[in-house]
Amino acid sequence: MADYIVRDMRVDALVIGAGPAGSAAAITLAGAGRDVVMVDRAAFPRDKVCGDALIPDALKALARLGLREDVLRCSRVLDGVRVYAPDGQFVDVSGECACIPRLTVDEVLRSAAVKAGARFLPNVDVKGALVDGERVVGADLGASELRADVTLLATGAAAEPLKRFGVCHRIAPSATAARIYVRTDEAFAREARHLCISYDAAICPGYGWIFPGPDATFNVGVGFFYDGKARPQARLSDRKLNTRELLHRFLDTFPPAKDLMSRAIDITELKGAPLRTALCGSALARPGLLVVGEAAGLTYSFSGEGIGKALESGIIAAETVLRGDGAETYAARIRAAFGPRFRGYKLAQDWLARPRLANFLARRARKSPFVRRELSGLFQETSDPRRLFSAAGMLRSFVS
Ligand SMILES: Cc1cc2nc3c(=O)[nH]c(=O)nc-3n(C[C@H](O)[C@H](O)[C@H](O)COP(=O)(O)OP(=O)(O)OC[C@H]3O[C@@H](n4cnc5c(N)ncnc54)[C@H](O)[C@@H]3O)c2cc1C
Repeated sequence: MADYIVRDMRVDALVIGAGPAGSAAAITLAGAGRDVVMVDRAAFPRDKVCGDALIPDALKALARLGLREDVLRCSRVLDGVRVYAPDGQFVDVSGECACIPRLTVDEVLRSAAVKAGARFLPNVDVKGALVDGERVVGADLGASELRADVTLLATGAAAEPLKRFGVCHRIAPSATAARIYVRTDEAFAREARHLCISYDAAICPGYGWIFPGPDATFNVGVGFFYDGKARPQARLSDRKLNTRELLHRFLDTFPPAKDLMSRAIDITELKGAPLRTALCGSALARPGLLVVGEAAGLTYSFSGEGIGKALESGIIAAETVLRGDGAETYAARIRAAFGPRFRGYKLAQDWLARPRLANFLARRARKSPFVRRELSGLFQETSDPRRLFSAAGMLRSFVS
């Protein structure tokens, strides 16, 4: 089918990858009347190893795409995030959020792109760029070639497509993470109202999570960041990292995880995946090519959240194309939109990777409205992380 459709085809925009970044771009471009082809090496609906959490940035971006309510209808809507410090204290941070399997949300997004007029080709593993001098003018789809005025690379954390398009600056991922799904009885699941994140000393610099999803399911996992500052008590970077071992340690030692597992009716097999974070690891663009979503490192190191950033960058890329602007303008827009936030959140990650500081912060959060306000602002991306994660912020936590 793919051969038949794409032979000798020329389109306004070729979108490679139908995850949140690619679909958001395709929805916006096709909705504005552009001729768009979106391809993916997978057939949809497809699973994507993820924590499945939609934090406020993702909900905002979905609202811009007109899909917020459609997505929330299939999600478990939650009250906020409960953050556990290494010593077991926790703090509840308010902010609207939800949890929905990627199998479902990515299909909602892809279908919306098709409804907006984009043509979707599944099972197409893009082999490389078609170039004219320095400019990318389309892609080699294996059995055929597709020419496009602009190509959007939205291929997620895989390094291979970045290499094939000449934009890879770093092959190694920034982090690795693994998850399982667990089902419990309805009564137990109803009680879980928060995304739960644990900054466990054994996992630093990383974290474990328990995210309550729809139909009494929970997404449980651990992520470990190579980019952070490793703590002496973790020393995990000294030996070969094994996320399976880390996840089992989390399930055996973190009390809410132990409780959950003792109630589990059903447990799926563990699946792992890499992450590309911190707005680095690839060029953001080259003539004729815009790199969007996790391919551009647009996932936070601090929390591993990237769905919202993927959606937002897809929209920015599409708007850049619609205005007739080029690759350099897109790269500048991405740096302006995300640079300060990523620097701030990297700072937060470095602070929370120090178990003593994380414990201290959790203690202060129980007493200080300032700390609670700033943490909620951090979650909702309405406040600057440097206000809290600084010597001045720590001093202020004693007086307000
Ligand atoms: C274990 C784990 C937990 C996470 N938890 C969360 C969370 O709770 N919340 C959150 O916001 N983020 C989370 N993230 C990050 C999140 O998964 C990513 O930020 C997000 O998927 C990025 O979206 P994307 O569209 O850029 O890429 P993807 O969703 O990865 O989509 C890329 C698409 O490109 C396709 N593709 C790749 N190569 C090719 C090729 N050569 N040809 C054609 N198609 C190709 C793939 O099949 C895929 O469909 C987590 C990540 C991991 C690994």
